[in-house]
Amino acid sequence: MRKLQMVDLKSQYDKIKDEVNASIQEVLDTTTYINGPLVHQFQADLEKYLGVKHVIPCANGTDALQIAMMGLELKPGDEVITADFTFAATVEVIALLQLTPVLVDVDMDTMNISIEALKKAITPKTKAIVPVHLFGRAANMDAIMEIANEYNLFVIEDNAQAIGANYASKDGSKVKVGAIGHVAATSFFPSKNLGCYGDGGAIFTNNDALAHKLRGIVNHGMYVRYHHDVVGVNSRLDSIQAGVLKAKLPHLDAYNAARREAAYKYNQALSVNPNIVVPEFDMNGDDHVFHQYVIRITNGKRDGLLEHLMAKGIPCAIYYPIPLHSQKAYVDSRYAEADFPVTNQLVKEVAALPMHTELDDEQIKFITDSVLEFV
Ligand SMILES: *Cc1c(COP(=O)(O)O)cnc(C)c1O
Repeated sequence: MRKLQMVDLKSQYDKIKDEVNASIQEVLDTTTYINGPLVHQFQADLEKYLGVKHVIPCANGTDALQIAMMGLELKPGDEVITADFTFAATVEVIALLQLTPVLVDVDMDTMNISIEALKKAITPKTKAIVPVHLFGRAANMDAIMEIANEYNLFVIEDNAQAIGANYASKDGSKVKVGAIGHVAATSFFPSKNLGCYGDGGAIFTNNDALAHKLRGIVNHGMYVRYHHDVVGVNSRLDSIQAGVLKAKLPHLDAYNAARREAAYKYNQALSVNPNIVVPEFDMNGDDHVFHQYVIRITNGKRDGLLEHLMAKGIPCAIYYPIPLHSQKAYVDSRYAEADFPVTNQLVKEVAALPMHTELDDEQIKFITDSVLEFV
């Protein structure tokens, strides 16, 4: 059996080596390291793929979130609502900009922001909502956009984990996740569904004026060289990373299909055990692209299971072990534990199994047999 890894980037690279190497060589041969043609080509390719008017590449996903919020001109004290159960980057940039993060609970079955909790958290100071498409599953964007319209709020999609997912709106249309809100942020961190070989990120929007503003913010607030109109940052996607991404983008749909296929096989094997809750998804739809494959162990054996798997050489992880509202940096006297029953339960039950584009049947069988023999 091939060695088990949480993410197998080497096997993936071996299959696309020629395309990737050619892209990197092009940058080296032309010395166009910063803002080279490949950055613009990748940007155009991604705009087309997502069906979004503007992609603004930047240095990483965290910057993308921060720059999106700067572009919307949110002011200190403005409240921004996001999920309690996610990676810290989302809440970090809210706090960094001196906006007020308002964490709310998630739904048990989707692990995405709870619409009920979101509605309850809205105050006259609320200015924006940041839904996270956690683990690759689209959040309930119909409901979120409806609330945003009703209360005149911005929606900033954190699309770091769900690039390529489609959202089937209740009006029957299908839209790529990240092209629904006012603006979206994504990450090209190597392990993400579309990952480069270093750091990278991008912001998407259909709004021309906002796109213009964002292009200045990523470049020191310059719209004309050496004229600094707004306070900006330095956040660039370098040309080598853009070259890698340009070579990988044509494979993204196949990569996401491979992830869904692996998730389906995991589900088939694991759903026989009543102590395991598997992520339900529609094999005919494509609203879940499985950045992570996360199950719940409901009989108290989660921690034991992880030890058992590690002992057998199976990598596994807890995403995420501590709710954001309990993190030292983000504790706030306005929160009560009773506000977060779902997150508080999830952190005790979730277990992530290896998930990537290169899992084979033998590996999946070994992993699922090992889970079932313990739980
Ligand atoms: C990875 C990730 C980010 C941050 O992306 P970086 O490129 O690592 O800065 C933000 N939000 C979520 C949900 C993520 O998974």
